[in-house]
Amino acid sequence: MKLAARTPSIVEIRTPTGKVYLLEGEKRSILVDALNDWYEKKIIRSIQNRGGDSLSKVKLILLTHGHLDHFGGAPGLKRRLGCMIAIHQLDVEGPRSGRNLPLATRNTWERMTRPFVSRIKAEPFEPDVTFEGDEGDLSDYGIEAKWVRTPGHTQGSISIVFPAQVAIVGDLVVGRFNAPRKPAYPLWVKDPQQIKDSVSRILEYSPKTLLSGHGGPLDADEVRRFFLG
Ligand SMILES: [Zn+2]
Ligand SMILES: [Zn+2]
Repeated sequence: MKLAARTPSIVEIRTPTGKVYLLEGEKRSILVDALNDWYEKKIIRSIQNRGGDSLSKVKLILLTHGHLDHFGGAPGLKRRLGCMIAIHQLDVEGPRSGRNLPLATRNTWERMTRPFVSRIKAEPFEPDVTFEGDEGDLSDYGIEAKWVRTPGHTQGSISIVFPAQVAIVGDLVVGRFNAPRKPAYPLWVKDPQQIKDSVSRILEYSPKTLLSGHGGPLDADEVRRFFLG
């Protein structure tokens, strides 16, 4: 895929439980999500491996939503990178409390695991930037892209759309556990219709590929068929 000159390169950093993405702009970079704190070294090493001033270029950690497996590592990475942290206003209670936002359950597995997942704690922190509304520009942070609120997994979930027909969707859509390139609903969904509405909002930007917080990359046509029929 040929990317437009000003498009950031998107570097995937993969771990056994989830993925973060480094968006490398010309002068500045954004790290999308931070995973749990036990991945700090791995993330730092992966950024360092990009060479040059890759570590000091990171000016922002952008959290796709207020779940601990995405924000838990953020305060440690902030100290290491000297950058800011941003999240949507509607999900700020997650980082502030150092706990997962209230989790909706739709099946037995979720009901069984919820007590455990709700009890896990991470270092609480106050994000430096809170996004409001339904969309915004990331060019102020050196990246040619736009964030779009895509509620469904949480109310303040955001996705990032790039000019080059790619979108990062956080946990709006995830890869199937045993077939990571196949789309699936995330856990903890209160209203599946809200997920469908958000998926169709993202597909309006005509991405070819969706990058998820878990599994993927996902083919946009398959995502359309799976969620919208
Ligand atoms: Zn989540
Ligand atoms: Zn997640």
